[in-house]
Amino acid sequence: MLIFRKAKELSYWADIQRKKGTKVGFVPTMGALHPGHISLINTSVQANNITIASIFVNPTQFNDPKDYEKYPKTIENDIKMLEMAQCNVLFLPDVPEIYPNKAVSEFHYYLGFLEKRLEGEFRPGHYQGVCMVVHRLLDIVNPDNLYLGQKDYQQCMVIKKLVELIEKDAIITIHICSTLREPDGLAMSSRNMRLNKEERKKAVSIYNSLSYINANFRTGDIPGIITRAKKMLTGAGFNIDYLEVTDATDLSPVQSWDGNQKIIVLVAAFLNDVRLIDNMILN
Ligand code: AMP
Repeated sequence: MLIFRKAKELSYWADIQRKKGTKVGFVPTMGALHPGHISLINTSVQANNITIASIFVNPTQFNDPKDYEKYPKTIENDIKMLEMAQCNVLFLPDVPEIYPNKAVSEFHYYLGFLEKRLEGEFRPGHYQGVCMVVHRLLDIVNPDNLYLGQKDYQQCMVIKKLVELIEKDAIITIHICSTLREPDGLAMSSRNMRLNKEERKKAVSIYNSLSYINANFRTGDIPGIITRAKKMLTGAGFNIDYLEVTDATDLSPVQSWDGNQKIIVLVAAFLNDVRLIDNMILN
């Protein structure tokens, strides 16, 4: 696997590949890789001539500086996992390489409702940071295919919007890959590494509460079902940012299902100082 640390070098190399007609798949990550990330790499490897992964813990998307400082880093193991998965290239930049001048932070991406609902509401500025880094990465890599995880459902919507805003939607095809889970149902996440043994046991309540809603939403009383699911979470020690059933396309709240609407349940909750998110498409 080739490792590039310099944006210009990767950009130059990727340009040469593209001129040869090579299909390039791209998987952006923040590292501390787990099988969920690797499932994205596998999907890309199967469909492209070259797969490029990036590892960059993006400071501009952390609204809580402590969360940024504590973000797990396991770079040696990450490299081994990527090599095992036959990833061709790793882009491993440092912060000045991604943000060479301060002007970049003055740019505002118009994200509309995506910035007001759910993650947008609870993490002010987060999606501006996500757009900043993904915009820069896409300019460097210019992939044909971009692989994202449904685990970050709203982020997928934001990146789709970004790709339209920067007029790359005719060039880049976005692929949303399903969420890989631990055997008990907990969504794999780099942040799970920060849970102690007891917290790890309790964390499964996130999946259980989503499954409870999935099993019961057809009965009509969605607010009542959500109240009971919230009790499951708080009973396990979680502090909930949100647990909501929404329309899957515009994230507007849903009180009862009409039998046709595509709906989703999304959750974000803290177990002590570890914030976990998850979601489940309900129909
Ligand atoms: P992250 O390193 O958390 O920024 O994630 C990098 C990419 O991997 C994002 O597109 C995530 O949605 C995706 N991802 C994270 N966790 C999972 C998972 N459990 N299953 C599938 N994809 C995931």
